[in-house]
Amino acid sequence: MRPDSDTENQGLWLERALLPAGWAERVRIGIRQGCISSIAVGAAPEPGDSRVALAVPGLGNLHSHAFQRGMAGLAETGGGSGDSFWSWRELMYRFLDRIDPDALQAVTEQAYVEMLESGFTRVGEFHYLHHAPDGRRYGDRAEMAGRIAAAAANTGIGLTLLPVFYAHADFGGAPPNPSQRRLIHDIDGFAALLERSRRAIAPLDDAVLGLAPHSLRAVTPEQLARLLPLTSGPIHIHIAEQLREVEACLVWSGMRPVQWLLAHADVDARWCLVHATHVEADELRGIAASAAVVGLCPITEANLGDGLFPMQAFVAAGGRFGIGSDSNVLIDAAEELRWLEYGQRLRQQRRNVLVAVGEVSSGRLLFDRAVQGAAQALGTAHGLRVGAPADIVSLDIQHPALLARTGDALLDSWVFAARNGAVDAVWRRGRKLVSGGRHHRRDAIGARFARILAQLLQA
Ligand code: ZN
Repeated sequence: MRPDSDTENQGLWLERALLPAGWAERVRIGIRQGCISSIAVGAAPEPGDSRVALAVPGLGNLHSHAFQRGMAGLAETGGGSGDSFWSWRELMYRFLDRIDPDALQAVTEQAYVEMLESGFTRVGEFHYLHHAPDGRRYGDRAEMAGRIAAAAANTGIGLTLLPVFYAHADFGGAPPNPSQRRLIHDIDGFAALLERSRRAIAPLDDAVLGLAPHSLRAVTPEQLARLLPLTSGPIHIHIAEQLREVEACLVWSGMRPVQWLLAHADVDARWCLVHATHVEADELRGIAASAAVVGLCPITEANLGDGLFPMQAFVAAGGRFGIGSDSNVLIDAAEELRWLEYGQRLRQQRRNVLVAVGEVSSGRLLFDRAVQGAAQALGTAHGLRVGAPADIVSLDIQHPALLARTGDALLDSWVFAARNGAVDAVWRRGRKLVSGGRHHRRDAIGARFARILAQLLQA
């Protein structure tokens, strides 16, 4: 899908907008070939401009497993004291076994519609469901990657595809479990998958291809060393999400996962360390100094009982972060930001824990940093600035939670006081995809999702 032909020389006139330098009024944004070509502050609207009351930049969702949207809410029955991330994973593998290419595309489209409606304009798809249910390769080894690209094309969301390399069940090269057969590659097969994936995303306007060693459990040091030269794009890895993983890493290497990674890989601004929940002070400083982004997924981390990342110390050390919807148990950009702050408040029994006196507000800090961090992790430009993609979110100033607000209080009220209905419209590369809070293709995509889900859950 190439929407740019109908967005040549388009203009948006924003009564109020959050620019990189702060809030501005009467902002005219020129859009050419999907990107912002000009910005004028204090300007009058031009004939043909779309008028918007309040606009902020689109936010990236840096970590998603879209297919898991189909099992949201199905793992909430009590399993006793043994119920954990690991028992959830067994249920997830059973669900994954039923997903064919049509099902993957239908569930992914539904998830991407919900992301756009909540204010996410790009997604980092951490994609590991590569093979057929019996573990054999599809005729096109990037069949499933192609379905994710099709879902991005059909919904309009920006895509950073992160094909996942998975080879082992645990540290030390343990052989994979039968339930992981749809995930497994050797290095040569994975290199071929990357090449095919590059072709699968080529029809998209501004898709980015990176790669993802799944975790230090799933990849040996030798494999990690051979994987990294296969990309010049973003590199994402799950790390230190669970204490059991930290303990197993200590037994295997004598080091904690983040400590090991920083010592053995050239971690830099291309990296996204997803979760990094269980880190000590020196690891925290090491991540901050590397300029890597920490990918935080507070809703999923709460749902899975992972633990709390030490946000306050990390932000104080200048650390970079973004947010991800991960398991997609609930898709809501504002709620991810809300829980990022609320987790810390509950732990510290204090309020506004991330901002210092005299700085911007909590909502503003969370939003600005998450926009910057996600863009870095997803390999794209961000913000309402010339040259960046025209990815823009407008908020409904008539929403009860936003009435009579100005400046940062608008973001605070969206993050802490509103529900999903506060997002009014969403543009991606200048094309309007969401109006009045509804994605233009919500009904058709929702109907297909309903049909496919009935089949998946009856099976
Ligand atoms: Zn994940």
